[in-house]
Amino acid sequence: MAVTPLINETEIRERLVELGRRIEADYTGRPLTIVAVLTGSLVALADLIRQIHIPLRVGLVQASSYRGATTSGTTLVLNETFAPDVAGRDVLLLDDILDTGRTLATLVEHLKDRGAASVRTVVLLRKVGRQVVPIEPDYHGFLIPDAFVVGYGLDYNDEYRHLPFVGVLEE
Ligand code: 5GP
Ligand code: MG
Repeated sequence: MAVTPLINETEIRERLVELGRRIEADYTGRPLTIVAVLTGSLVALADLIRQIHIPLRVGLVQASSYRGATTSGTTLVLNETFAPDVAGRDVLLLDDILDTGRTLATLVEHLKDRGAASVRTVVLLRKVGRQVVPIEPDYHGFLIPDAFVVGYGLDYNDEYRHLPFVGVLEE
């Protein structure tokens, strides 16, 4: 399968600098914890936090969607082995891509239940025309068309995550 480049390394780097500046300004003096959704946001996490020059903590959660064989719709399964204590913290939830919105919406509620003082969201990519759950990310990197993308952390069958750019996977 071929990967057609969509967003190159320079564009991603420049955009993360901008997002870092905004996040820095918005969270100065606040107890910031960035919670990244594994595995897709790993590369964005590493690059984004180095553009935020204020104290912060990092935590991880793993979220996987399963399409049930017998039930209709999808179930989100969380693994919180490496999740931080977010009680009283201002949480910024980071995911690779907002597609239907289910993952982010579910995790926002979950983090609030865990006692976070506030929960905002940041996504590297936002797919246009696919959203099912109404959630507005507070920060996003790029709007992209409805295509299956890989690279810069995003996978297809656990491959392509290491590509330094985002591209469309072509059959
Ligand atoms: P949502 O819950 O918003 O439907 O889905 C978000 C999750 O679906 C992302 O964290 C990502 O794992 C996966 N996903 C959605 N669209 C794409 C895509 O185009 N490429 C890849 N690799 N994963 C995607
Ligand atoms: Mg994901």
